[in-house]
Amino acid sequence: MYQSSTIINHIANFTSQRNTELLAFSLLKSVNSMISCLSTKIITVNKKGEVRDHLFFENNHCTVKDNSIEIDNVLRRSFEHMHDSSLAALTLKTKAGYSVIRLLHHDRKSEQFLIINLNEKMTKENDYILSGILSIYSNFIQLLNESQTDELTGLANRKTFDSAISSVFNTRPREHKEVDSERRSPNEIIVKENHKYWLVIIDIDDFKSVNDRFGHLYGDEILIHLAQIIRSNFRNEDLQFRFGGEEFVILLSADNQMECMQILERFRRNVEEYQFPNLDTVTVSIGVVELKKETFHITSIDYADQALYKSKKSGKNQITFFENMLSQGIAKKSDIQGGSVDFF
Ligand code: GH3
Ligand code: MG
Ligand code: MG
Repeated sequence: MYQSSTIINHIANFTSQRNTELLAFSLLKSVNSMISCLSTKIITVNKKGEVRDHLFFENNHCTVKDNSIEIDNVLRRSFEHMHDSSLAALTLKTKAGYSVIRLLHHDRKSEQFLIINLNEKMTKENDYILSGILSIYSNFIQLLNESQTDELTGLANRKTFDSAISSVFNTRPREHKEVDSERRSPNEIIVKENHKYWLVIIDIDDFKSVNDRFGHLYGDEILIHLAQIIRSNFRNEDLQFRFGGEEFVILLSADNQMECMQILERFRRNVEEYQFPNLDTVTVSIGVVELKKETFHITSIDYADQALYKSKKSGKNQITFFENMLSQGIAKKSDIQGGSVDFF
């Protein structure tokens, strides 16, 4: 029997993670050291059947890929079979031995599978240990996801924003990258070379009067609709947050200001034209600033806020770039830049 203290150490190790990808990596590491296996991997398949995330552990080495990858047909059919028959576990006979597949997690967007490749069939004892570890993993990941999600809208909450924004410039390109211990947050931008990133603050216009006229519950319904419009207008890799109240933040990737403006203008129009129940129109005002490596992110939020304020002052239902305010001489940069402030 595997030493129970070692099992507890493994559990302590992976439940100390606050990052879903590091947590998955820890799980692979634990499974590898507890069960003598050839390799382990975690594969995430989205609703379209595309493999979106792939963590692979072999020879004490973990790699991650999150571009779309191909998986072999046997594996794909096994996933489909598990999905259709609501199976949580499946064992396949392979050329090298056996593959044990376990459903790790599923939500409305994707399913995540653990695959353990073994020389021999898994023993009952190991199967028992594995089930225990996986149920702790799945409870923990649910807690983690809940703590990072805004309850009303399902978008990421304010708490996750800080780590997401710091990851924008601290991340090396992800593909084929080795996972190390000081890795990124789960809500992080996939950094593409030569891309610019924009901090966008969206605030509903005259929302107080919606609450006053129709009540707070109805106001909440509007927030849910708006979150839905945000989801369908922005790409998944453009991170979306409910910042609090009726303010939303997007970390958007666009090559230049013109492209960013086009994306936001389309969104602004879609909100304006959306048929909200009982209301003629709901509009939003938007403030934007380009994220710069050298600018402290609280300063970037302040710039985007100034731009939002300008949109409000100029009649609402419009988009303002902080950069344009600078060139018009109606705003100036703060003296505080990233790296130059010491809080303590
Ligand atoms: P403005 O166009 O200047 O943005 O006007 P506004 O009325 O939207 O003003 P402001 O953004 O300052 O006010 C936000 C209002 O949003 C205050 C509060 O009544 C409402 N609000 C904030 N959070 C929630 C929420 O979670 N649910 C609901 N229903 N209302 C909220
Ligand atoms: Mg507001
Ligand atoms: Mg408002």
